[in-house]
Amino acid sequence: MSDLTELYQSVILDHNRRPRNKGEMADPDARADGKNPLCGDQITVWLKLDGDVVSDVKFVGAGCAISQASASLMTQAVKGKTRPEVLALFERVHAMVLGKTPAPEGPHGPLGSLAALSGVSRFPVRVKCASLAWHTLRAALENGATVTTE
Ligand code: ZN
Repeated sequence: MSDLTELYQSVILDHNRRPRNKGEMADPDARADGKNPLCGDQITVWLKLDGDVVSDVKFVGAGCAISQASASLMTQAVKGKTRPEVLALFERVHAMVLGKTPAPEGPHGPLGSLAALSGVSRFPVRVKCASLAWHTLRAALENGATVTTE
């Protein structure tokens, strides 16, 4: 196992054990629910919007470590970003977990800690676990519908 793989695993475990921004939001501007029936992962995402900026984001969820760590990492990454920036980040993360990003970016690359999710590209069944939070976030930004990965 490479050092990078070990580092990524420790990031995932840390975010699963101590999720950031977890908890309900009292007065949200948008929300969406997401499910990954394949694994049993569930998540609800709440957003506070200040014009075009995601000024706050919270989630609650249950499921495997990848799904919950991904949600925690996501909330850290998108807070303070504009809607177009969040959607662009969604595309980058989605490409990364699908293995379409040519080289691992490393923890100091443009995706920062989100690079920890890159390992799932080798496990197709885990891709939906890692992308669930992102699909749910996009749904909250777009229309607040319930999304499912199936
Ligand atoms: Zn899962």
